[in-house]
Amino acid sequence: NVFAQETNKDTLTVATNATFPPYEFIKDGKIVGIDMEIANKIAEKLNLKLNIVDMEFNTIISSIESGKAHIGMAGMTITKERLKSINFSVPYAKSTQIVLLNSNSRLEKIEDLKDKKIGTQLGTTGDIYAKDDFGEKNVQSFDKISDAILAMKNGKIDAIMIDQQTGRNYLSNDSALKKIEAPYVEEEYAIAINKSNKYLLDKVNKAIKELQDDGIIDKITKKYINS
Ligand code: GLN
Repeated sequence: NVFAQETNKDTLTVATNATFPPYEFIKDGKIVGIDMEIANKIAEKLNLKLNIVDMEFNTIISSIESGKAHIGMAGMTITKERLKSINFSVPYAKSTQIVLLNSNSRLEKIEDLKDKKIGTQLGTTGDIYAKDDFGEKNVQSFDKISDAILAMKNGKIDAIMIDQQTGRNYLSNDSALKKIEAPYVEEEYAIAINKSNKYLLDKVNKAIKELQDDGIIDKITKKYINS
């Protein structure tokens, strides 16, 4: 059994942060997106019902550690630091960072961000890279990306460091934004799972591989990303 000690044995609880389109976002009051569709397929394969819990990105890992959620799916990048607290499944997507600007911004390249105010989402890889490269005092971390975008529109910050697809998604819905590419490493998205639950890790990995082999992850991704 996947959850030996639990009473609610027919449910797979996924922790996410629904401000990250196209991977997870709210549409017509429902949490939808690439990750949520993949999570549904995984739950189906495990014969479990999916229960989605929306929370701040920065609390997802601790919710996996405490057992509040079984899996974390939030366009979450595999990092060495995170691997100290949780396990990651095999990767199911790739990304990198880009920089969003107000469309009337004079900034043109990543070097121009020096001594500017950069907004990020707290605890994300963008947050970590921006602090490493431009100094902690130049970075303002927000709980929600939408709050960072609002702050940039109000002139409180100059730029936002964000994952590529999500950045593009905000961009394509808002002509008051533009982007510059950033020379950051490729990141891999994977599912976070409690370190002690090897059984679930194996099940999830098997499910992801099947969904990849059957072209289902590709198909889901193409529904949301058409480039
Ligand atoms: N991929 C980034 C990370 O893992 C951002 C994820 C997110 O904001 N949901 O930190």
